[in-house]
Amino acid sequence: MSTPDFRVIESDKGTGVTYTCGCTCVPVAVPDPAGQAGFEHCCCGKVHFVGRDASKALTTYLAERKATKKREPEYTTGAATVAMPAGDVEVAWAFPIEA
Ligand SMILES: [Zn+2]
Ligand SMILES: [Zn+2]
Repeated sequence: MSTPDFRVIESDKGTGVTYTCGCTCVPVAVPDPAGQAGFEHCCCGKVHFVGRDASKALTTYLAERKATKKREPEYTTGAATVAMPAGDVEVAWAFPIEA
């Protein structure tokens, strides 16, 4: 699958990264002040991480969910780099595979 249209957005959580989700939400993930990855898990089941170690944080997050949730979907995952005002940041995403 192709890379989502990640773009920088100003939100009430700070400068983050969003994409066109397909539901009515504008999911924004904002790195913490130290640059460590932050994430947003959208109501529609898509999740993305933005910041340092985004891929690692996503992998850990999904593993924890798989261990604790009864009905966890299979995901398609990927990673990209997005240019933010403070410099390039890593973006990692996991979108449920449509059944
Ligand atoms: Zn939504
Ligand atoms: Zn959504």
